[in-house]
Amino acid sequence: MLNFTFQNPTRIHFGEGQIKAVAKEIPANAKVLVTYGGGSIKSNGVYDQVVEALKDHSWFEFSGIEPNPSYDTLIKAQALIEQHDIDYLLAVGGGSVIDGTKFIAAAALFEGDDPWDIVAKQAPIKQALPMGAVLTLPATGSESNGGSVVTRDGCKLPFGSPLVRPQFAVLDPQVTLSLSDRQIGNGVVDAFIHIMEQYLTYSVNGKVQDRFSEGLLQTLIEEGPKALASETKEDLEIRSNIMWSATMALNGLIGAGVPQDWSTHMIGHELTAAYGIDHARTLSIVLPGVMKVRREQKREKLLQYAERVWQITDGDDDARIDLAITKTEQFFSQMQVPVRLSEVDLTEKDVDTLIKNLTLHGMTTLGEQGEITPEISREILMQAL
Ligand code: NAP
Ligand code: FE
Repeated sequence: MLNFTFQNPTRIHFGEGQIKAVAKEIPANAKVLVTYGGGSIKSNGVYDQVVEALKDHSWFEFSGIEPNPSYDTLIKAQALIEQHDIDYLLAVGGGSVIDGTKFIAAAALFEGDDPWDIVAKQAPIKQALPMGAVLTLPATGSESNGGSVVTRDGCKLPFGSPLVRPQFAVLDPQVTLSLSDRQIGNGVVDAFIHIMEQYLTYSVNGKVQDRFSEGLLQTLIEEGPKALASETKEDLEIRSNIMWSATMALNGLIGAGVPQDWSTHMIGHELTAAYGIDHARTLSIVLPGVMKVRREQKREKLLQYAERVWQITDGDDDARIDLAITKTEQFFSQMQVPVRLSEVDLTEKDVDTLIKNLTLHGMTTLGEQGEITPEISREILMQAL
């Protein structure tokens, strides 16, 4: 195992009716800005529950944070923050709203000239407004991590700081019942691939992390399809297990002390930035290519994955790895996400564009070994045609 320091201070309130916990989490004298997206929270009752929880607080709202939040939208929150002396942010939504609010939190107290430097130049974040989150879409883990991804002019880039990690997060599985099949599938697959990014690398004998990861992967494989099936769609136990798996997938626990890959995410971000494809749907296209092209470097872990996650024990090593990759693709298809570029109408010509953009954005040494050059990214995308 590698050395690590682990602390996850986000207090989680999990379960039905927990949105009321917001009332006690936010200091009584705070001036709160509630941030949200396109309005799904108004039709599924989440907004009303937040309003009720904040009835004794002074609060304002900022809406319209879009999927893959853009700098141009987020920066507009600054005027409201200044006008009302906002000192606490409450993000109500999925990964986009929470990520976007993290940027707003850091930009509000940024000391440099241009807050975009937080993302473009990874300018150090020395302070940020405190924030909490009410999660409505289990997927990203953003509700209890310090990461965020923001888009500007075709660049979709990550930044991170412990200062933007939510102080608390409410996870009420009931609020996920209004998700469309598309968002259920996207969420399960994003969480699955977060685990794979931290698990499918080279072995450093992180037995604890491996067993946690394998358990989470199996839970998503078992429960994901049930959340799409009409007979079990409304089952809150299924939704609860998916919601908690997605949080555990990217809250720092399974990634502590082990190598991490993240090449699928970095290549996927280019697919979203250039063609507007949903985040998870870029990952389901890229990951099988990564498994195929990095097969030798990941051989030991691929064999472990085949045996422990898919119970594949027959055949020689290569046959078992092949079957594990096929099973992974079949699971993604079952969750109704694409596994090939052709399914989203992209061709070899588009691969050229993606490689150009990866290079432009400095994504030239990806993966757990830093060995994935643009040439290898091209091989990965060619596997995905
Ligand atoms: P999202 O972009 O936050 O939301 C997708 C759609 O789902 C929106 O249209 C939203 O509508 C709707 N929605 C959310 N909750 C709903 C509910 N309960 N009922 C009905 N509709 C609902 O999706 P996401 O997958 O959670 O976030 C994706 C973003 O997170 C990407 O930008 C991705 O790069 C990023 N990400 C971040 C991390 C991290 O660690 N920080 C990790 C992976 C990905 P409204 O707008 O109306 O709410
Ligand atoms: Fe993700």
